[in-house]
Amino acid sequence: MRYIGCHLSSSGGYLEMVKTAEKIGANTFAYFTRNPRGSKAKQEDSADAAAAMARLREMGFGRLVAHGAYTMNLCTADPEARAFACDVLCDDLRRMAALPGQSYNFHPGSHVGQGAQAGIGYIAVALKKALEPGYPVTVLLETMAGKGSEIGGTFEELKAILDAVGSDQVGVCLDTCHVWDAGYDIAHDLNGVLAEFDRVIGLDRLYALHLNDSKNPMGSHKDRHACIGQGYLGLNTFRAVVTHPALAGKPMILETPNALPGYEKEIALLRGLES
Ligand code: FE
Ligand code: FE
Ligand code: ZN
Repeated sequence: MRYIGCHLSSSGGYLEMVKTAEKIGANTFAYFTRNPRGSKAKQEDSADAAAAMARLREMGFGRLVAHGAYTMNLCTADPEARAFACDVLCDDLRRMAALPGQSYNFHPGSHVGQGAQAGIGYIAVALKKALEPGYPVTVLLETMAGKGSEIGGTFEELKAILDAVGSDQVGVCLDTCHVWDAGYDIAHDLNGVLAEFDRVIGLDRLYALHLNDSKNPMGSHKDRHACIGQGYLGLNTFRAVVTHPALAGKPMILETPNALPGYEKEIALLRGLES
């Protein structure tokens, strides 16, 4: 089964997102658990969540991949800001419990000069705390472009976080634009990159993908998403990704610069690709 979807607005609630996804041919989706740049979370509505869960099951959707706020930096230098970010993470996971079995992806964070080692330690501390209550959610670290002092631009850094947390409730979400911008050549050697992922992290820890083309050449560390087939990755890369046996059944989420009609077209395009 190919599970393909895109980012949706959560302003109408959970069930509304499922219905929107169905309309545009998606069978998974992502949404921001709160304003991507701010920190305000929508009020919770458990009846809406239960209705959405029933509909997801009925329609055979793949796992959803909720996205934490970009501003949540678990390894920032200021202890108060770090504690606040950890509170945001804890609260996000608590609210995800209304959608049992789905996944939550976030950007590991930027160490802002303290060094990757220190950053990885802070991220692990926050994750351990957030996982403590045992909410039924899989938490995913996103592969990053390595912009500035971002952590997660190498598979080794993600593995270090996974090891420090030591929970099989934590996995990885691979963003095609980010890994390319980080210097992994998925355009010419997808098999080699997946083999490297498997060697360092283990493909069993890969739960989801973000499908984005890139506006920049490999290794640029820029993180600028392009529409599918309109960037340096090109359509053939996405053909290889969506048809790869090792990636079959994993939710694939578009984060391309599109509104709904553009997403609908890209979903159809990706569904039509054959190896
Ligand atoms: Fe992201
Ligand atoms: Fe992403
Ligand atoms: Zn990005």
